Amino acid sequence: MMASVTDAKKITVFGGVSRKGICPQLEAKLNHTGCGFTTFTDAELNAKFSKLTGDATPAPMRFFAFKDPEQQTKDQIEMVRSHPWISKEVSVRGFIFDVNTGRLQEVMALAEAAS
Ligand SMILES: [Zn+2]
Repeated sequence: MMASVTDAKKITVFGGVSRKGICPQLEAKLNHTGCGFTTFTDAELNAKFSKLTGDATPAPMRFFAFKDPEQQTKDQIEMVRSHPWISKEVSVRGFIFDVNTGRLQEVMALAEAAS
C-alpha cells in the first residue's frame, strides 16, 4: 500500500536491545504544517464522538491533539530522549514537513538550541 507523507509520524531505524536500553540507530519524529490534529482539542473530540455515537462510555480518550507542530516535535524529541529504556547514544531528530513547499525543516530540541 502506498503511504502518503502525512501518514508518517515516526521513522525508526531499529538496531537492537542492549543493557543500555533499546538501541535504534535513529529515531526521527515527523510532523507537518496544516495538521488536522491542530484543529481540535482532545476534549472537543471526546465530546463529538460521545454525541455522534450516543455513548460516552469510553471517554475520555487521548487523541494527542496539539496546537504547534514545532513545539509538538520538540516535546516528542524530549520524550524519546528522556525515556529510561532508550539508549542515550540513539540519535533522536525531529522534522516538520511543509505541505505547501515540500520542504523538510529540522527542529532543534531545547537542549540543542541552548548550546
Ligand atoms: Zn497531521
